[in-house]
Amino acid sequence: MAFMFYGGERIDGEGLDSLTIKDPATGEEVAEVPRGGAGEVDEAVRAAREAFLKWSRVPASKRGQMLLEAAAAVEAKTGELAPVLVSEQGKPLREAKLELHAFVRTLRHYGGMAKNIRGGYVPDLDTDTYGMVVRRPLGVIGAIVPWNFPTTLLANKLGPALVTGNTVVAKPAETTPLVTTRIAEIMHRAGLPAGVFNVVTGRGSEAGEALAAHPLVRKLAFTGSTPVGKMLVGKAAVNLKRTTMELGGSDPMIVCDDANLQKAASAASVGRFFNCGQACLAIKRVFVFDAVADEFIETLSEKVGKLKLGAGIEKGTMIGPLHTSGGREEVEEQVQSAVDSGAKVLHGAKRPDGPGFANGNFYEPTLLVEPSHSSKVATEEVFGPALPVWRVGDLDEAIERANGTPFGLGSSVWTADLNRASEAAERIEAGYTWVNSPQVVYDELPFGGWKESGYGKEHGIEALDYYTETKAVVVKRHQR
Ligand code: NAD
Repeated sequence: MAFMFYGGERIDGEGLDSLTIKDPATGEEVAEVPRGGAGEVDEAVRAAREAFLKWSRVPASKRGQMLLEAAAAVEAKTGELAPVLVSEQGKPLREAKLELHAFVRTLRHYGGMAKNIRGGYVPDLDTDTYGMVVRRPLGVIGAIVPWNFPTTLLANKLGPALVTGNTVVAKPAETTPLVTTRIAEIMHRAGLPAGVFNVVTGRGSEAGEALAAHPLVRKLAFTGSTPVGKMLVGKAAVNLKRTTMELGGSDPMIVCDDANLQKAASAASVGRFFNCGQACLAIKRVFVFDAVADEFIETLSEKVGKLKLGAGIEKGTMIGPLHTSGGREEVEEQVQSAVDSGAKVLHGAKRPDGPGFANGNFYEPTLLVEPSHSSKVATEEVFGPALPVWRVGDLDEAIERANGTPFGLGSSVWTADLNRASEAAERIEAGYTWVNSPQVVYDELPFGGWKESGYGKEHGIEALDYYTETKAVVVKRHQR
């Protein structure tokens, strides 16, 4: 039985039911983990609260140093952790290593900021009086994370939370808790005090809801689907917790008639099929100008035809299985809706044949041209390897289509014309716009959705604001 990790200790959850973790490529059991619930969440939150009272008073530079040391310890174990991530999540080994590398990089980013956390000074408020704008940590942070990038989405919360003096209780997805608990233990062994970073494994509807509703949790940092996010905002209202909601997306990509079509097609192929299409920030809808549509679609089609499907652990695999069988069925339904609406299928739209695929959740990379604008691939988030492409007449039409969903997470535009690029960047309703660039997330820049993709920011210096509370302090120099 795998374990939970809180209060600086492995918790084996004796007496608790367990959850079975299965390999998405084979359907075989990988591990059993304790099914923690409200009781375990309460224990972990209390441990985190006790730790907070000391951690928040550790000099910031020392907190930063400890984060850097913890990051190095995780980095040293990448070779061991990556195959575990593949076995619970399904992604190719190369992507698992990249994910762990990004986890370490984000912790380093925030560890390195420790000496630059500062507030404001307002002189001459009154006679002999000045003011300060002080930022203080919130307390215990509840972090609920999905299964698609179990570690990087955690680092986005852990880094800014810990460096500013908060402590964290994380609830990984019920299907991907293994690497997260190991990382918590590694970081503790590398010097992070007991209770600073805790992990409770369990179901969303049990451990997750208990964490969202716990009165000692001062902020809920949630990444996941829009419906669950909306529901959790209500649970968090019990004590008016601060919330950050990183939710679903349906990123548009606009390809203008002056774009570099080779580069745009590569970005579309990687941006859609990375992690088997299971990314919040993935290119989920392409709008290409009529004049270059045929050439672009042909170029993209060639690239999609070269994507190699297989188990994540096999050498050369570019696309692994979907994470769950339910996820695959949902994509199948969405693709069917596109096909029924008249889409032309250039690749995929089916499960692969062959013995290596028999027991896994495999689905062929799928390229669809001109489904109806009311089909599910146009209106819903497609969380899997299917990419619809539409022709558009001009930039106005492309932007109108791009903004035509409730989502607003990422977006991209490809053009040689600076005016078009800046107009698109201004008018697209999304938290990120890439111009002539693949959808790469930088630690340096704030990341977060608009509209029903959520609110609040991760990454950048901006994330620090979401893990601290502002206080005004007024000081009178003389007591007279
Ligand atoms: P999900 O909302 O079902 O689950 C996410 C997490 O919430 C898991 O840990 C789960 O256990 C927990 N959860 C589920 N039900 C819960 C409940 N009732 N109470 C408390 N916690 C609960 O999402 P998913 O399907 O696992 O993940 C995919 C979704 O996440 C997609 O919509 C994707 O776009 C989104 N996502 C967003 C971002 C972002 O940064 N904006 C990043 C990655 C994924």
